[in-house]
Amino acid sequence: MPSSRLAEKIPGATPLVADKLEALGLHRQVDLVLHLPLRFEDETRVTPIAAAVPGETAQFEAMVVSSEIGYRPRRQLVCRVADDSGTLVLRFLNFYPSQQKALQPGAKLRIFGEVRGGFWGSEIIHPRLRVLHGDEPLPTALTPVYPTTAGLTQATLRRLIARALAEADLSETLPDALLARLSLPGFAASVRALHAPPAGLDAAALANWQQPFWRRIAFDELLAQQLSLRQAYAARRARGAPVLAGDGRWTDALLARLPFRLTAAQQRVWREIERDLAQPHPMQRLLQGDVGSGKTVIAALAGLRAVESGYQAALMAPTEILAEQHWRKLSDWLAPLGIEVAWLSGSQKKKDKQAIIAKVSAFETALVVGTHALIEEGVEFARLGLAIVDEQHRFGVRQRLALQQKGVEAHQLAMSATPIPRTLAMSYYADLDVSVIDELPPGRTPVLTKLVSAARRHEIIERVRALCRAGRQVYWVCPLIEESEALQLQTAQETFAHLSSELPELSIGLVHGRLKPDEKAAVMEGFVRNEIQLLVATTVIEVGVDVPNASLMVIEHAERFGLAQLHQLRGRVGRGAAESACILLFEQPLSETARQRLKIIYENHDGFEIARQDLHLRGPGEFIGARQSGLPLLRFADLEDTALVEAARTAAEELLAHWPTHAERHLARWLAGRAELLKA
Ligand code: ADP
Ligand code: MG
Repeated sequence: MPSSRLAEKIPGATPLVADKLEALGLHRQVDLVLHLPLRFEDETRVTPIAAAVPGETAQFEAMVVSSEIGYRPRRQLVCRVADDSGTLVLRFLNFYPSQQKALQPGAKLRIFGEVRGGFWGSEIIHPRLRVLHGDEPLPTALTPVYPTTAGLTQATLRRLIARALAEADLSETLPDALLARLSLPGFAASVRALHAPPAGLDAAALANWQQPFWRRIAFDELLAQQLSLRQAYAARRARGAPVLAGDGRWTDALLARLPFRLTAAQQRVWREIERDLAQPHPMQRLLQGDVGSGKTVIAALAGLRAVESGYQAALMAPTEILAEQHWRKLSDWLAPLGIEVAWLSGSQKKKDKQAIIAKVSAFETALVVGTHALIEEGVEFARLGLAIVDEQHRFGVRQRLALQQKGVEAHQLAMSATPIPRTLAMSYYADLDVSVIDELPPGRTPVLTKLVSAARRHEIIERVRALCRAGRQVYWVCPLIEESEALQLQTAQETFAHLSSELPELSIGLVHGRLKPDEKAAVMEGFVRNEIQLLVATTVIEVGVDVPNASLMVIEHAERFGLAQLHQLRGRVGRGAAESACILLFEQPLSETARQRLKIIYENHDGFEIARQDLHLRGPGEFIGARQSGLPLLRFADLEDTALVEAARTAAEELLAHWPTHAERHLARWLAGRAELLKA
């Protein structure tokens, strides 16, 4: 039984309590030490009743004057108490006969609760109270209130934590020199102070995360994260991977054939990737670049490098449309070189899929592009040298690891247009190497963004008419309806019907997630060829679509979209020389958060800045999709505290270099119960 095992690990816990503790993720005594209070209650002082302030929580000592059961508006116990300064009503809507009996007139009570201004004067509903027998001294420290779960009382937690503080190993894991430089208090002193604040530390001071004791805990947590990521990094460097140092045959040929020159930024990231691929251990590199910065050609070069080194490469994209577009683009570029690109998607006929899978495992094809079918259909590569994952954030942080093969490990290149803010990159992604394309190809025009109330939709329709008459093309993105795909489809069809009747002279296409791949491809093809002027779409066009002649994007119910999504959508226009615009239609009234978010997208064009503000609004959990990734979130540290994140990063390096046993002890304290963070 797990509970008996745990009961041994946490002295003083019955099997039942041990189960509850386990539910809170508390497996060892030291986990209890790190189970820090949510807030504190001040039971060290007694307030005179006359000084009670409605809305505030306070403690009183008073004598019961009367105690009776009332029936209006419902059955309740009403107890009147008094001290020297005044009287107070205690009201119990649920009560036991034993409680009623304890509240005899003359009984002396210590009462704790939030005071409300009632019709009959001040009152407290369901106060916490104790009958006093003789002189009972007040506690001298603030009372901690812990996060807990049903069936586990604060009193039990306090008792177990007090015992853990006395018995667990609280020895210092930071060398003195480091503590002094960072001016942080010691570990033992910090946890003791946070569980049982010394006199002089009031609840307000403890509510401040900048308080040195909290800062120490936050630092420790960040340090543990840095250490574990660094270990994962080192472990990866110790594994073997094929050396992809081909002769440049195909990469040079592609570069010579491209209708453009790589930008300086593209050249730089290609050099970084090239260098990694030539190493005998697996690359794990994230290629970041704003929408339209030209990541695809880098993926093509990397794939060709694998091929010219005698290996295979796979490129995986999160949606069928995007994967297919990659496949077409790569095929266009590589067919003249005589290189075939295979295509694998979940919606293919079984027979076709099996044929591709057979070719891949027989090494009859070196390059394959596909959706997650690539990892789901049990594809066995003969000689996989490189796995490329586009828009990797959409797969979840750790899913990139799924594309592995037996024996040597393939190099991995993840690509993302959703920039990861710096602090996040330094923490959750610290085991990845990052390359950034920080420059757009020349000749792009900035996209003008407009916020327009949906009430003015007819004006927008006129604008679409005029633009298309002038030979331009337009995207019209239908509202995102997260709760129901069916409803989303219906809305898209209605929008399509409505626009078709308003704009009968235009050729209008509709693309959504329920279309069959060849139907989808036909519509996209029509749009690429300018046979379709107005493309009505659900968010399937979100990533990757590339039609330079499209110069206007209209997004309905823009307030429902995420910021990264809006930024990506907006990036679909402004790819040609024509002046482009993005119109964000919003429905009134807007909530305050929705207003703030639209303001961010309106004011910013830099994906990094948008991501930073998005992180600020949403917090890191949602940002990295940690829930599906299984990454434990930071409990105490705030990623916006860049200085502390950087200090932890430097400290991790120093510890590993000079104080490896300190590092080990530190990790053991913080992460032993969280092994998932330790595997790379
Ligand atoms: P993203 O980074 O969003 O995936 P793409 O790879 O789709 O961007 O590139 C956007 C467009 O820019 C494509 O049409 C691509 O062929 C083109 N492109 C890429 N690099 C350059 C360059 N150096 N000069 C001009 N156009 C480029
Ligand atoms: Mg792309």
